Amino acid sequence: MSKYNGNREFKINIPGSVKLIIDVLENNGYEAFAVGGCVRDTILDREPQDWDITTSALPEQVKELFNRTLDTGIQHGTVTVMIKHVGYEVTTYRIDGEYNDNRHPESVEFTSNLIEDLKRRDFTINAMAYNEREGLVDAFDGINDINNKIIRCVGEPEERFGEDALRILRAVRFSAQLGFDIDEKTMEAIKKLAPTLENISAERIKTELEKLIISKNLCKLITAYNAGITKVILPEFDAMMECEQNTPYHMYNVGEHTIKVMENVSADKLMRWTALFHDVAKPLVKTTDANGRNHFKGHALEGSRLAPQIMRRLKMDNKTIKTASRLIECHDDRPASKGFNPEAIRRSVHKIGKDIYHNYLELVYADFMGKSKYGKDEGYDAYVYVCKQYEYIMENNICTSTKELAITGKDLIALGCPLGEKIGRALDELLEIVLKEPEKNTKDKLYVEAEKIIKSL
Ligand code: ATP
Ligand code: MG
Repeated sequence: MSKYNGNREFKINIPGSVKLIIDVLENNGYEAFAVGGCVRDTILDREPQDWDITTSALPEQVKELFNRTLDTGIQHGTVTVMIKHVGYEVTTYRIDGEYNDNRHPESVEFTSNLIEDLKRRDFTINAMAYNEREGLVDAFDGINDINNKIIRCVGEPEERFGEDALRILRAVRFSAQLGFDIDEKTMEAIKKLAPTLENISAERIKTELEKLIISKNLCKLITAYNAGITKVILPEFDAMMECEQNTPYHMYNVGEHTIKVMENVSADKLMRWTALFHDVAKPLVKTTDANGRNHFKGHALEGSRLAPQIMRRLKMDNKTIKTASRLIECHDDRPASKGFNPEAIRRSVHKIGKDIYHNYLELVYADFMGKSKYGKDEGYDAYVYVCKQYEYIMENNICTSTKELAITGKDLIALGCPLGEKIGRALDELLEIVLKEPEKNTKDKLYVEAEKIIKSL
């Protein structure tokens, strides 16, 4: 009988480098297993994000055996072993103390028993270990839960969420990524302890929330709402769920509509965050007219102010915050709503920017998909027109910004334009001409125009 009662029939393909690390540790008298997410994902036929290894060797012992290692979290037992420029986290079997604000528990105790290490892990599907000698070590019936598509805590759910409240959000995140249901008892504990997510750092919340919203089943965000999770980590989403839209364009409340829009943009971080917040200000600007119809005037502009505040609170990077905010501000622009006019589209590309216009179009399309049929019919032809014009602009390098003018600030100075802000003004006036008549964007034609403009400055 094997030490951990592993299932030797179970075969998993592990990468050569992982096998090498396990072999080296075993050949030196230690135990070592691939563990956690990589085992789960391989069984599910998903590509693992990374391969983690758990071992009976102490960190110093691991370091002695490999040429290149990094002290990633040595006080928690983790050493990164570098093999062919790829890092593998090798962590000593451990029993965790209380978790604090960060990714690691306050104190850890090393142990020589794999099962003790598996016990500290959050869910049964994440608490399996594998190596070729022992087979699959599955002390908490993770395989059964994988087969039944269930997220279940290892041990007592309330106790486990009490140790680290982030696990509450992780449960929903895994359920969204894998399309699994959450076990009943685990769900009860989630509902009870959701308020304790308040103690978790924004960085940890953001990581899990981002994985949730870029996942296939991001509609589980509604599960998070129903369980009282978003109330703590994203109360703005609760406001959206509670904001009805009595207009002919909509058939969902703002929150449900938001989910539809998110589902219809690509699974890309920027697009999903942008879609999540595109209507975030609707609850704030909602009005009701004499006919009982709702209006949300100014919600895009207001949203472009509110969304960055939320994203900063979630400690998101500045580039994403800035781009998302620009997209939110323009998401309701309809440059062809008053007729099909190429100049209006050039002006729209100028205003929104060539760098993000494709993102804007993607968002507008997804926004249509989240509306009632009435809303879709009304603007769809116009949307197609805008797309075609945009393609034309891109294919033919049509100028929509001062940077793309055939003459530069330097040319203007050579023509006698005074230095300083007048150069900018002259370029703006030239762009104005070119937006009206793109064929004027040649050096010769713009020189003629520039001379006139400089005289009038
Ligand atoms: P992903 O594919 O997103 O990386 P993962 O399951 O590998 O998913 P990680 O956050 O990388 O998740 O964690 C690796 C493993 O460590 C998990 O599978 C789980 O066994 C354990 N683990 C991670 N975070 C926690 C936690 N907060 N509480 C308990 N165990 C955890
Ligand atoms: Mg992982």
